[in-house]
Amino acid sequence: MDYFDIDIIVLILIFYLFIAATVAKFGSAREVGGKKTLLVSLAFTPVAGIFYILSSPQKNTLKITHYRCTRCGLEYTDKHRHCPSCRKEGVSSRIEKIKMTTY
Ligand SMILES: [Zn+2]
Repeated sequence: MDYFDIDIIVLILIFYLFIAATVAKFGSAREVGGKKTLLVSLAFTPVAGIFYILSSPQKNTLKITHYRCTRCGLEYTDKHRHCPSCRKEGVSSRIEKIKMTTY
């Protein structure tokens, strides 16, 4: 085996991993999850991973991102740099991001 062959094999491997990771990304939105999809994609080719995802039901979860003021505790659905309520009092308070998953 000369160097040319090794280069091609490495390229194919990188490409293979990239495709598998992309498939796994889609899998994370499904019931099966990203990790399982990645394993299936690596072991049985990404094509099998795609079918694996398709056979799995969509996750019945809803991801909601909230923003809560660390000072007054008010919650917002929109992103704010500073809490508008505290702003009126002349205080620039910190807003923290809260991620919630509801079923
Ligand atoms: Zn506030």
